[in-house]
Amino acid sequence: MNDLKIYNSISNKKEIFIPVDKNNIRVYACGPTVYNYAHIGNARMAVVFDTVVKLLRYAFPNVTYVSNITDIDDKIIQRSLEEKKTCKQISETYLEIYNSEMKKLNVDLPDYQPKATDYVESMINKIKHLENEGFAYCKDRHILFSVSSFPKYGMLSKRSKEKQIAGSRVAIESYKKNPEDFVLWKPSKKNEPGWNSPWGFGRPGWHTECFAMASDILKTPFDIHGGGLDLKFPHHDNEIAQSCCFQNTKDDFSSYARYWMHNGFVTIEEKKMSKSLGNIVLLKDYLNVYNGEVIRLALLSAHYRSPLVWTESLITQSKKILDKFYDVLSRLEGIEVQNDNLTLPSELQRCLFDDLNISKAFAYLNKIVRNKESFETDKNKKNLKRILMTVSNILGIFKQSPKNWFKNKIKIDNMDIKNIEELIQKRNLARKNKDYNLADDLRKKLINLGVEIQDSPDGVKWKWVN
Ligand SMILES: [Zn+2]
Repeated sequence: MNDLKIYNSISNKKEIFIPVDKNNIRVYACGPTVYNYAHIGNARMAVVFDTVVKLLRYAFPNVTYVSNITDIDDKIIQRSLEEKKTCKQISETYLEIYNSEMKKLNVDLPDYQPKATDYVESMINKIKHLENEGFAYCKDRHILFSVSSFPKYGMLSKRSKEKQIAGSRVAIESYKKNPEDFVLWKPSKKNEPGWNSPWGFGRPGWHTECFAMASDILKTPFDIHGGGLDLKFPHHDNEIAQSCCFQNTKDDFSSYARYWMHNGFVTIEEKKMSKSLGNIVLLKDYLNVYNGEVIRLALLSAHYRSPLVWTESLITQSKKILDKFYDVLSRLEGIEVQNDNLTLPSELQRCLFDDLNISKAFAYLNKIVRNKESFETDKNKKNLKRILMTVSNILGIFKQSPKNWFKNKIKIDNMDIKNIEELIQKRNLARKNKDYNLADDLRKKLINLGVEIQDSPDGVKWKWVN
């Protein structure tokens, strides 16, 4: 087997992956704060780390994957006040929606999906320890991590001290001895959720949550810690600081996680996609129109570390690629392949083991499906199907039967054509009324039915997309 290489954000280098324990690979990735529908950025993180885990499961016999849920947070409290619901109601509602949307993207549930509120006791104990050892201090009912107690702070992001201060999420508050100190525990108001602690009624800070849950569930050191690039600083630097001080391993950053992996931003019209900028693109809007596999492949189309420019043509292109491979699979129907002990040809494996180089893997796949010989004998067909099934297991695509995939296209009976004509009429009317949002929605609906429309001087023309 080729060496598995992954880019380690802490060394800024591609490294050969050497497991802490090859019989149990342990992975943690920071999950969402559940107070709203998932946006495309959330989906990219979930799809990227689901794919990393699937690749690890291909390479190793046992993988444990933890991805947390932040169910206590200022944004959840804000939402609960707006909607006049409890925080628990808000977080449970959106967690359920999140998981059902991820399922549509063929993202498997992590082995553990811990909720922050289930780990508050452990967080209190860890904070108490940090305070007793002089790494944290209490001021105005807040507990803060003292960054000056950990001289190598910022090792992951390698930011200068000035940038660390400027990048802190919270404005410099009176309770901070130093501006870069971060909150481990803060007081809750009477109407806010909280827990009794040695420092009064309050709630944990976000950075403590991941450090506590990752350490408790996976034990340290574990193999891979992942998350979006925006979490590198301060969130992940803060996790390292707490863990190294807690374990008294201040000089050994690898005592927490050995490899750090970060997925790039999703950008829309050159702007960073993040909730704070307000240009939210909700996953649910895309899942209304496109099959989840199309969205999954679109999310994997750029290398996971690169920015992903989210455009409609990117999605259309992903659909075309899937159509092509489902067409190949339909030609291989009746060829039986056992779905266990599948291995990839060395060349293809090398692409995926090279820090998940999916576009290179697709170049290889394109080459073999273009080769007539691949379809010439039953042995060759079996071999091709075996390769595609293995890719399916690793990339989470080709999960449907070709018949199901193409069902919208092959049902060309009168009823369907009538339905399409009606949608086109509705769209014409919407355009006449200058309701362009509705017109656009209807066009997307038609695309989803496999219909391409063209506006011409003689009216609207449509055709099935091949
Ligand atoms: Zn986290």
